[in-house]
Amino acid sequence: MSTSSISSIRGMADYLPEACEILEQVETAIRDVTDIYGYRQIRTPIVEKTDLFSRSIGEATDIVEKEMYTFQDRNGDCLTLRPEATASCVRAGIQHGLLHNQTNRLWYLGPMFRYERPQKGRYRQFHQFGIEAFGWTGPDIDAEIISLGTRLWEVLGLEETNLEINYLGSGSSRLNYLKNLKKFLKSRSAELDDYSQNRLETNPLRVLDSKNVTTQKVLEDAPEILDYLDVTERRHFDKLLKYLELTSINYQVNTRLVRGLDYYTGAVYEWKSNYLGAQNAFCGGGRYDDLVAQLGGSDLPATGFACGMERLVDLYNQTKSIKKRSGDIYVVMLGTAAENVGYPLAETLRRANISTICNCGGGDIKKQLRRAGNSNMLIAIIIGEEEAANGQLTVKPLRSGDQQLTVAQNEIINVLRLQLERETSFFR
Ligand code: ATP
Ligand code: MG
Repeated sequence: MSTSSISSIRGMADYLPEACEILEQVETAIRDVTDIYGYRQIRTPIVEKTDLFSRSIGEATDIVEKEMYTFQDRNGDCLTLRPEATASCVRAGIQHGLLHNQTNRLWYLGPMFRYERPQKGRYRQFHQFGIEAFGWTGPDIDAEIISLGTRLWEVLGLEETNLEINYLGSGSSRLNYLKNLKKFLKSRSAELDDYSQNRLETNPLRVLDSKNVTTQKVLEDAPEILDYLDVTERRHFDKLLKYLELTSINYQVNTRLVRGLDYYTGAVYEWKSNYLGAQNAFCGGGRYDDLVAQLGGSDLPATGFACGMERLVDLYNQTKSIKKRSGDIYVVMLGTAAENVGYPLAETLRRANISTICNCGGGDIKKQLRRAGNSNMLIAIIIGEEEAANGQLTVKPLRSGDQQLTVAQNEIINVLRLQLERETSFFR
């Protein structure tokens, strides 16, 4: 049998404790903000039937054509690790009867899988936090969701998040636009990159998303989708922009903004940040009014966004609001008499919500104090034979440099609470 070490799969990261602590801070902010806005959590399986994604995301998209982790299970069923969660939310909503003439404000958070070329901000297993709202047609709900996002960036202390917004239109206005876009792209096809020449026939809207510089240049002359909206669509878009202005949310209309999935039917938007490098969009969404019916449900309007957690955490790491987390107490025990006091004391502290580590593995006082210093605890409690016999404890502050104190066992909690507050301010 081989004894060589096994590494993780390319593009799939481990989150070590320090990274988990930061992730947790972001997740806490998400829980708080979604709660304040009245959204409720939904969790769906990470594996679904492949059809769910090919029918919703669209056959002629990068995701379905080449990015899905698809396999047959032992029963021969064709399954896929979810590349996104909107389709799953719709599936679950239909299956459990949530989407019958009802309204729902939902959020989710979890891992997604796409077989992409791994690079900064782009992984094969990544995480998305997302919002889905079902049952409202008007721009009021889109504005609400955008304001929820904006509030979250604010809570996390993110700077310079730029909101770009566009309106895709559906039905005849979309068809009419696509016809003209295709005509234009064909007339300039020689100047387009290979990928765009390919997409021109199957999914011309995707060409607008090309990162190729020469294609970008050609697109400057392309027809603009906003000129093709019908009266209702135009009114929707204007109303949405009005709502944003009402709540002082800055935005920029970007007439070439499209999204990577086919199901969008109205307003679409993306938040970008200059602090992210090449993968500069960290959250995107919009309206997808046809998806519920398309997946076998009733004719129910829907809208939402998905936010990449890795990119969000990257931005959060660059802010000043990031907090390093410390624990509280390290218990140094020297001998059996000390352990007889120390172990019950540790339980008392933990019950009082003071986080406590007891020294493990023995050692003399020097060794135990070195371990205490290397831990992320703020205070050491030292129990020697003398302390054990006298009903006393030695409290040694580890960060502030304050003098150590001798404290009676029955006063320990009050003393610790005061000293912990002081130590926290010295913890880097
Ligand atoms: P991109 O243009 O960067 O490929 P996308 O349009 O494919 O993004 P969506 O499918 O709309 O993205 O997903 C929403 C968000 O999820 C993105 O804004 C991004 O933050 C994140 N995301 C998408 N794919 C990945 C990935 N492979 N790795 C990390 N985050 C991702
Ligand atoms: Mg993508």
